[in-house]
Amino acid sequence: MKKLLMAANWKMYKTVEEGVATARELVSLLGTLPQDREVLVCPPFTMMHSVCPILAGNAGCHSGAQNFYPAAQGAFTGEVAPEQLLDLGCTYALAGHSERRHVLGEMDELIGRKVAFGLEAGLKMILCIGETSVERRLGQIEEVLVRQLESGLAGVLSTATAENLAVAYEPVWAIGTGDVAGPDEILAAHALVRSKLESLLPSEGAQIRILYGGSVKPDNAAAIIRLDNVDGVLVGGASLKADSFSQIVLA
Ligand code: PEP
Repeated sequence: MKKLLMAANWKMYKTVEEGVATARELVSLLGTLPQDREVLVCPPFTMMHSVCPILAGNAGCHSGAQNFYPAAQGAFTGEVAPEQLLDLGCTYALAGHSERRHVLGEMDELIGRKVAFGLEAGLKMILCIGETSVERRLGQIEEVLVRQLESGLAGVLSTATAENLAVAYEPVWAIGTGDVAGPDEILAAHALVRSKLESLLPSEGAQIRILYGGSVKPDNAAAIIRLDNVDGVLVGGASLKADSFSQIVLA
């Protein structure tokens, strides 16, 4: 059975004390998770040492990194390696989040290297893709998604599986804006991603989870996860409070 992956991205928010309190409250609100879902929380690096063990205390809850550098170790000031994340009990990582692409200037080639290096190191990877509002207006959604998928997955065509890879479709214009994509827009984008995954990874593409991200809230989550080819959600703002994220997880 394909489990829904309900993922939280805490971005650059919270002190260690706040993160620990939120993780504790979340684990207690969630209790025993329904069989059909998994939970992932991606906290800032600063609190992983304290937060990862709390999440690990609830079967079905996992910790993820928002970012890492694709090297085993070395002189990369300010960066964090996959081995260092695995050492903390972190099992997932994001690559290609829109804020890393558009605020930090990460390019397709680096994102592809991260996906390949992360998988090789033993992390489960979530490749984030999505068009900007300008690209949407210019009718370039398909071109952008196909390019980001092809470059993001170029190094993992023989190693990616439904176990170690998920894709998050996050239209940039919907992230943090309250402007959630409509059902038809989500259906069309996810169908496109599914068909591209099936052609790039013929034996695994049908089973790889495709998450939707962009202004998911407790009141729209249930309708979104019911849509075809939506296998979970990636949540920013509404994941910062344990009660709203637990409502989304259990939607
Ligand atoms: C995100 O950061 O990936 C995200 C989807 O944010 P928000 O839920 O706040 O739109």
